[in-house]
Amino acid sequence: METREYQEWDKKYIWHPFTPMRLWLNDEPLVIERGVGAYLYDTDGHRYLDGVSSLWCNIHGHNHPHINAAIISQMQKIAHSTMLGLAGEMPARLAKELVDITPGNLTRVFYSDSGATSVEIAIKMAFQYWLNLGHKDRHLFIALKQSYHGDTMGSVSVGGIDIFHRIFGPLTFKAQFAPSPHPYRFAGTEQECRQHALDEIESLLQQYKDQVAAIVMEPLVQGAAGIIVHPEGFLRSVAGLARRYGVLLVADEVATGFGRTGTMFACEQEQAEPDIICLAKGLTGGYVPLAATLTSEQVFEVFLHEPWTETTFYHGHTYTGNAIGCAAALASLEVFEREETLAKLPGKIALIQEYLQNISKLEFVGDVRQKGMMAGVELLEDKPAKKNFDTTRRIGTTLCRRMRDKGVILRPLSDVLVIMPPLAISMNDLEFLLSIIEETIKVDLRKIV
Ligand SMILES: *Cc1c(COP(=O)(O)O)cnc(C)c1O
Repeated sequence: METREYQEWDKKYIWHPFTPMRLWLNDEPLVIERGVGAYLYDTDGHRYLDGVSSLWCNIHGHNHPHINAAIISQMQKIAHSTMLGLAGEMPARLAKELVDITPGNLTRVFYSDSGATSVEIAIKMAFQYWLNLGHKDRHLFIALKQSYHGDTMGSVSVGGIDIFHRIFGPLTFKAQFAPSPHPYRFAGTEQECRQHALDEIESLLQQYKDQVAAIVMEPLVQGAAGIIVHPEGFLRSVAGLARRYGVLLVADEVATGFGRTGTMFACEQEQAEPDIICLAKGLTGGYVPLAATLTSEQVFEVFLHEPWTETTFYHGHTYTGNAIGCAAALASLEVFEREETLAKLPGKIALIQEYLQNISKLEFVGDVRQKGMMAGVELLEDKPAKKNFDTTRRIGTTLCRRMRDKGVILRPLSDVLVIMPPLAISMNDLEFLLSIIEETIKVDLRKIV
């Protein structure tokens, strides 16, 4: 009874993100009521394994007592006070922690509320950094094709996924795009693929020598592109190019940050030291919207001139540095320590790898990609020809719908199945998730096709 009502209200009153609403209105959405650990429960009491970590942000599971307690205790002090003109206990404590744990020389934390705003801020900072130094022409950004940095206009401007970004072209500023190093789709070896992308970046740096403000990239993995895992050494080399050509490097760790790739941050794996880093999704363990853009002192310092010289960064959001968000983030970092979240990953990562090896041999499975606790399984109509299914058939969505009936929630990126469970998932639950995926591809896909 209740469920039907909620479904009706949803269909009547809600416009869902990233959703073709015509299809939505003809479907029957699950209505989620609560969560425990890696599981979601709907209003009918059925449970589902949260195989996408509620869109890649949940880390320690739902309803974690430590994060819950931190949020409740913060609420009993204060939920929010402005950072415009005031400091706060929680934002100060979290900033200190973030500076401690992030790679390289990042020393300053600018808070906001979502991944998109964290990138928006990085872009505006990079632009104004050069302006403050007297370089008026440095407003070009180099990004990778198929990159995703969020949905505000600045983030869209450096986004390279046609289906999301192309129609907004007239509203965006112009960026230059280098190829995404995607070995499976490249005619050549992995090394040649990496070198090709690097050469293109370098040639853009040469061509637009005095105009480039920054290179913006997702380190190690381009998530929304379909979990494209970059060849080893690519990130390190891009960081090297940024240094050599004297442009800023912005690392968008919104998806990769907080353990997702197996280390706390993806940049660590290739000793990349970005000038600016963007954090959001996993920052609060997936509990409260909060984001942070961190910069080096070198970037920060050029904003320190007298206020009347227009070097101030005039940007901010009402809920910047929200105390509940910061409390949740601090609690999430504590859970990382207490539960040794990172130390427990290797076994889980190996289990995913093991299953993926079998899955990759199945009919209709093309490229299979994994970095740590994020993986993508590409479904193809014709495996030898590497030919995709017609996208209008929505094979990925149909297959995920089958998995939902078996108690697993996945959300595909087109015809790439995305495997992104909470880091804290147990080995048993992970095995359940992977076996459902394997079985559904093996048995159900043939029937659908
Ligand atoms: C999800 C994502 C964003 C956008 O984050 P939102 O919180 O959804 O605005 C930005 N960059 C990357 C790499 C992402 O995966």
